[in-house]
Amino acid sequence: MMAEPAALRGRVVAAHGRHYDVEIEGGGQRQCYTRGKKAGPAVGDQVRVRPESRQEGVILDILPRRNLFYRSDAQRSKQFAANIDLLLLVLAPEPEFSDDLTGRALVAAAGAEVPALIILNKADLPGAAAARARLATIEVLGTPVLMLSALDNDQIQTRLAPRLKDRLTLLLGQSGMGKSTLLNALVPDALAATQAHSEALGTGRHTTTRTQLYPLPGGGGLIDSPGFQAFGLQHLTAHDIEQGFPEFAAPITECRFYNCTHRHEPGCGVLAAIQRGDISTERHALYMRILEENEAARRY
Ligand code: GDP
Repeated sequence: MMAEPAALRGRVVAAHGRHYDVEIEGGGQRQCYTRGKKAGPAVGDQVRVRPESRQEGVILDILPRRNLFYRSDAQRSKQFAANIDLLLLVLAPEPEFSDDLTGRALVAAAGAEVPALIILNKADLPGAAAARARLATIEVLGTPVLMLSALDNDQIQTRLAPRLKDRLTLLLGQSGMGKSTLLNALVPDALAATQAHSEALGTGRHTTTRTQLYPLPGGGGLIDSPGFQAFGLQHLTAHDIEQGFPEFAAPITECRFYNCTHRHEPGCGVLAAIQRGDISTERHALYMRILEENEAARRY
């Protein structure tokens, strides 16, 4: 009888459905799949793989992860990225970015205890200053905003690339913000690599829903996930959601009830801060929407 081949260690660098590309420690890549019904790995996960044939493997288990991000659409919420060091959110003056999606992305980052950085792209356009002003609230609350143009390679290399070095960064942006332009400036062969992969599969259609980790030339990696709409926040606790609103932190200490949800309770420090104009009503409305969706998801 042949001995079981020893398990290999690796990192998931691409996911499509139940198929995963795993970069094996020590070199090489394998196309892997999972067995059984349990939730599969996410891109960025460290896994153990049992080799199967020359280029394939079975994912045996997922090593403990530092964090996990979910994306959601109208139907469901699905895990898609793990072990992230930085969330990079690409916004632009046009098309207009959504405050709601931006706020949700920052709640997801806070819930995972991952720092976020906003790129305000297309700084060359006349609307850039107004777009920056719209970001003033969250900038004051601690999320840095870097204004640049993805078309200007010098800016990318001198101002952005050093902040990504040796970190695993999750790149996010609504369509049209310049995310692909930015990705191709940071990883010059990204587009070519994606195309080569879809040719190897014999089709281009896989590229649209593929989450992919690209190694950065200076060290570190960038995870791109096409078609970003929204984060899944259903897994967050009410406490996690609160953490996503740093402006609540001081007023919460004034709440009369220890389990105050900051919606309608008498003696609520957050509601008092809104009355005083210290917390914006839009941000509180976003908090309420997220909390209510979260509770509705738990009821079903
Ligand atoms: P994605 O949908 O976020 O991947 O956006 P793309 O990278 O495809 O960019 C959308 C459009 O914005 C393209 O026409 C880009 O050439 C343009 N674009 C990207 N970055 C900049 C920029 O910094 N300045 C200007 N003016 N246009 C940009």
